[in-house]
Amino acid sequence: MQDQLIQNLKRLVQINSVNPDLSSAGQGEQEIAEFVCHHFQDLGIPSAVHTIKNDRCNTTAVLTGENPDNVLLMNGHLDTVGTEGMDNPFTLRRDGDKLFGRGTYDMLGGCAVQMGIATYFSRHPCPVTLAFTFVADEENLSMGMEHLVEHFIPTLPVKPMLGIFMEPTEEQIGISHKGFAWFEIEIEGVAAHGSRPEEGVNAIFPLGYVLKELEIINQELSEEKPDPYLGHSSLHPGLISGGTSQSVIASRAKLNWERRILPGESQGKLDAELQRVISVATNVPGNHQITGRKIFSRPSNEVEKNEIISKLKKISGDKEYSGMSYWADSALSTQSGIPSILFGPAGHGAHAIDEWVSADSLINTYEIIKNFILALNNK
Ligand SMILES: [Zn+2]
Repeated sequence: MQDQLIQNLKRLVQINSVNPDLSSAGQGEQEIAEFVCHHFQDLGIPSAVHTIKNDRCNTTAVLTGENPDNVLLMNGHLDTVGTEGMDNPFTLRRDGDKLFGRGTYDMLGGCAVQMGIATYFSRHPCPVTLAFTFVADEENLSMGMEHLVEHFIPTLPVKPMLGIFMEPTEEQIGISHKGFAWFEIEIEGVAAHGSRPEEGVNAIFPLGYVLKELEIINQELSEEKPDPYLGHSSLHPGLISGGTSQSVIASRAKLNWERRILPGESQGKLDAELQRVISVATNVPGNHQITGRKIFSRPSNEVEKNEIISKLKKISGDKEYSGMSYWADSALSTQSGIPSILFGPAGHGAHAIDEWVSADSLINTYEIIKNFILALNNK
């Protein structure tokens, strides 16, 4: 089976599935979605490609089990980040246990495992119904997962009892992950000649106060009680812009910051932070116009441990539960009523140029999930 998993991964890596909204080298997920769909069709498992828009596609497949009223959802994202700086990003290269190539770790490896699970259960009785899902755009705005939740999940006979998102977790069960929110503050002043500041209103000066306030809030967050799996929440300024020339009093300035959110942090808390930032900017002397807003956000994910999850934990070697710092599509799945966890292979270099997944871990992940599915027999 290991050879087959590696063969699946090799083909997945070969197809450029770079997210076109992140890199000009991206060609979308259509080709890879069709490849995955053919794999399932060749096994005799009903499968379909769902076009979200243009060349952005999901693939789904449903294998009906002996107990069709028990559904397990599996998920992987088909898109990868860009390949800038990599020599042969689309060629799988093996060096000992390491399988190098773009997406091997994040997360075509997990997709290859799903394909292997399908191969196995196309030949052996399966106690439950398996919903295999492969989505577009996880690395950007999750249009694939949103489409899946809206159009595919409702077509299943029942709501899945569990979602396994095969992001790389070093074979640990990711029981939670952080959410995030993006904020921006825009300051409008009045342009003037640099030698006559009294005729203008400098839009950049207030950003100093904004930055100071963000630093204070971040410090406060670092002093709160940490989440047992995820530590502290945080924020950081990520983008700053403004002004037109060194010799001109700037009439516009903008700062964007990101807030990483822990499970349990309320919307009210986030709104209050934004208000604090807006107030310090508003209180800066001068006739500035201040606009502050949230521009995008995604929820955190936290799943209550239950019998099914502890079964997977036992089968996976009873390692400690863990929390993932990064955001993943599983939050949207949990939000739709399917308790969703992260579980996938070990490796290194998500979004980096030296990305690899462990060949041994790939087969471990496959075996664990296969044995877990078989154990759902005697629930
Ligand atoms: Zn990922």
